[in-house]
Amino acid sequence: MSTVPELFGSMVFDDKVMRARLSADVYRSLKDTIRKGKKLDLSVANAVADAMCEWAVENGATHYTHWFQPLTGITAEKHDGFLTPAPDSHVIMKFSGKELITGEPDASSFPSGGLRATFEARGYTAWDPTSYAFIKEKTLCIPTAFCSYGGEALDKKTPLLRSMEALNRQALRVLKLFGNSDVQHVVTNVGPEQEYFLIDRDMYLKRKDLIFTGRTLFGAKPPKGQELDDHYFGAIKPRVKAFMEELNEELWKLGIYAKTEHNEVAPCQHELAPIFTVTNIASDHNQLTMEIMKKVARNHNLMCLLHEKPFAGVNGSGKHNNWSMSTDTGVNLLSPGETPYENAQFLLFLVAVIKAVDDYQGLLRLSVATAGNDHRLGANEAPPAVVSVFLGDELTAVLEALETDSPYEGTERHRLRLGADVLPRFNRDTTDRNRTSPFAFTGNKFEFRMVGSNDSISSANIEINAAVAESLRQFADRLEATDGEGDFDTRLHDLIRDTIRKHKRILFNGNGYDDAWIKEATEVRGLKNLRTTPDALQMLLVPENINMLVRHRIYSEMEIRSRYEIRLENYIRTVRIEALTMVDMARREILPAVMRYCGDLAGGLSTKKTVCPELKCGSEQKLIAKLSALIDEIDEATEALESCIDEKAGENLTEQAFHIRDTVLSRMNALRAVCDEAETLTAASYWPFPTYSDLLFGV
Ligand code: ADP
Ligand code: MG
Repeated sequence: MSTVPELFGSMVFDDKVMRARLSADVYRSLKDTIRKGKKLDLSVANAVADAMCEWAVENGATHYTHWFQPLTGITAEKHDGFLTPAPDSHVIMKFSGKELITGEPDASSFPSGGLRATFEARGYTAWDPTSYAFIKEKTLCIPTAFCSYGGEALDKKTPLLRSMEALNRQALRVLKLFGNSDVQHVVTNVGPEQEYFLIDRDMYLKRKDLIFTGRTLFGAKPPKGQELDDHYFGAIKPRVKAFMEELNEELWKLGIYAKTEHNEVAPCQHELAPIFTVTNIASDHNQLTMEIMKKVARNHNLMCLLHEKPFAGVNGSGKHNNWSMSTDTGVNLLSPGETPYENAQFLLFLVAVIKAVDDYQGLLRLSVATAGNDHRLGANEAPPAVVSVFLGDELTAVLEALETDSPYEGTERHRLRLGADVLPRFNRDTTDRNRTSPFAFTGNKFEFRMVGSNDSISSANIEINAAVAESLRQFADRLEATDGEGDFDTRLHDLIRDTIRKHKRILFNGNGYDDAWIKEATEVRGLKNLRTTPDALQMLLVPENINMLVRHRIYSEMEIRSRYEIRLENYIRTVRIEALTMVDMARREILPAVMRYCGDLAGGLSTKKTVCPELKCGSEQKLIAKLSALIDEIDEATEALESCIDEKAGENLTEQAFHIRDTVLSRMNALRAVCDEAETLTAASYWPFPTYSDLLFGV
């Protein structure tokens, strides 16, 4: 058994390995590429590839792959062997710089939304040297970006890297105005907390809905759900503990800082939190974490469910995307500082985020929109579909004082002067209600809580980075234009005050689940309430959104349009598969079971009556009548659903998506309701698959 420090990163071609295995010159060139994005020349790439191959083979690897995130949401890899023929029918293990830098996966089966014409079916992958290569299942994985030959991004990593660059550019302009000439680079950091469910694998395999769709499409509410709140932070069961131990070790080997683990609110729900890191690496690590969670679960005869809402009426799963910005000189730009000057800078970055969330609420909502997440946003524990920002009472009071030029009631009552006053230390708000906020300030970072558990965190971070870059661009423009006119503190003060005035409608410290809030948000404050994915996707067609993303070179207009189509298709496909699965289960499992039970009851009843004609058997008759009626209703609801699944609702994908949402989903709900009622009336031994009680309390 190795110790944790020995284990940690042992399967990663990280800085330590590079230092040990590369010549000083090669190491320096590679570092320049990593730090400053300098182009890597082929001789350096060859030397790196040699060292990588040697290291990988020593650690048991036989293959390599370019590992990338296509627009499907999962990661993709195509394996190639290191094995190369040598003279005298020998073989050697070899890997070239060219193979390291670019690859040409046959990409025709990845979605491109029309970006890749069929005659040009292949795209190429390009190494992202800022994310270390690693070994997984005897394969050297090289994190890459995936593009078409025309240069359009076919993946999520490319726009993520572009968004980080955009934020860096604009943040540096602002920092320069504060006289920070030593800062060369600003990065965004993310710590994504990952929620998941663990259920027994044998039970999982008995449910087609879980197998085909990742969620239960049927299931009556169990007598005991999460009402008692006895699972949260409760003792972890031995089988789950064993899973977590193995998971941690596997993640540590890959250099992923998995740190905390605890039970979540729902029965058999858990959470894993990594220590935060630079966004593109955090995103790669989160993809790996999800993959390894699923793999390790199987070793314990468990299944890891990452669906956003695997069980109706029980909490769903999300990812809390903890986001911050920091400089290469080690300053967290969202941390209130010790000096008045640091505070002023903090406040400017803070209001930049507030403005960004208000101006681009639609894009933030859009970034987390999937068929699965639609069930979660607005339901138990999940933040609502309305985007708002939580700051906590103290910070809200500071902003109010700045906005109205009125006395700030901190430790002592005085007027807050930027550049002269020190702000109080903000205690992290620990009250429970901030759990209801979609975008909460938690001391030195923002926590975006709308991301779905199954989604890549890239989409959310692309939009956050882009929107904040745009705020900073506008701030820098305004401050640069008035450079030299009057004193900086006054101009800064005015800018912050104007920004608060304009965007305070997005600030909300109350309970986000409250119906009154949704009413106020939409009717009084004019905030968007994009309840479903088809609504949210329309945000990709709004000119201001397109212009902003194009201006910062995060997407081309064509790339945006292709994503609109891919995501609509994805939504339509997901719900169609669910609907087809429901029809199949209702017709071939539920109806036969209820009919059999009803028939057995009727047979028993008639035997009884033959033997003892004077018996009344009222309750049996009542049950038989109820079940017979339900059988008809299930049959009708199944037919109603089946008939609308393939119905052509219009000429384009948009109309089809709205048809799916309005007709198919509502008929799915209707079918579920009658089947769930039948479940509560049918003897347990007749029910064809494990119930909610079995699944939720079966580990
Ligand atoms: P909470 O209890 O609110 O969930 P934690 O301190 O436990 O907060 O952190 C939750 C997550 O936030 C962790 O993944 C952590 O690494 C991450 N995190 C902490 N500080 C930062 C930061 N400055 N930037 C980004 N993520 C952060
Ligand atoms: Mg949290």
